[in-house]
Amino acid sequence: MAKKICVNCGKELGMLAGKVKINDGTICTNCLHSAGIGELENSGSYTESSIKSLIAARQEIIRSFSPTKTVGSYLAIDDTHRSFKIGQSLFDFGNLLSFELLEDGETITKGGLGRAVAGGLLFGGVGAIVGGITGGKKSKGVCNSMRLKVTLRNCFCSTVYIPFILTETKTKSFVYKAAQNSAQECLSALQIIADSYQSMQNGTANINQSELSVADEIKKFKQLADDGIITQEEFEAKKKQLLGL
Ligand SMILES: [Zn+2]
Repeated sequence: MAKKICVNCGKELGMLAGKVKINDGTICTNCLHSAGIGELENSGSYTESSIKSLIAARQEIIRSFSPTKTVGSYLAIDDTHRSFKIGQSLFDFGNLLSFELLEDGETITKGGLGRAVAGGLLFGGVGAIVGGITGGKKSKGVCNSMRLKVTLRNCFCSTVYIPFILTETKTKSFVYKAAQNSAQECLSALQIIADSYQSMQNGTANINQSELSVADEIKKFKQLADDGIITQEEFEAKKKQLLGL
């Protein structure tokens, strides 16, 4: 059996190598991730050339990334290109699905897509997220881990963690307070990303809706013209008007 090689980097892919079959060949998982695609996606729908252009597009996004907001070294957001970086990984706003702050494995607060509407009930707005965290029940006085779990979709990875505390830390300490502050900032920033994506989606939906109704209107007048109820000239005039020409 001929050895498989990655269509993108040309690496030989043995039995144990991470690889995925695409429409016209095989690709290593490294290159697949570079294209921003996950193993579980319908990889058979991609071709060597579509993957190569995805990789090029993604490299361009990575190259042009210039943060408009950062939270320490935890999170960087580029509002202009609508992308964000956690560690070295770059994501689109649309990749963000949900997130939750975990302290010693316990969920402290949650946020994400679709919560904008219910946000008032869940958090009382962004400000209340802050209150939610500080209201924690740290009876033992120490925290061993504080991290933000971020769940992603349509992406090369489904979960990424932002770690704030990794070793035993007194909850009265400055380190703990600083970690809390960073976590709060990340939570707020991520919710803003989710809300921003959502409102853009809603905006697009509205535009599509009005485009649809214009098309419907034109069709109706076309029918009237075809039926001889209005003249062809009248139809053309109405069409121009509807299209705003
Ligand atoms: Zn490769």
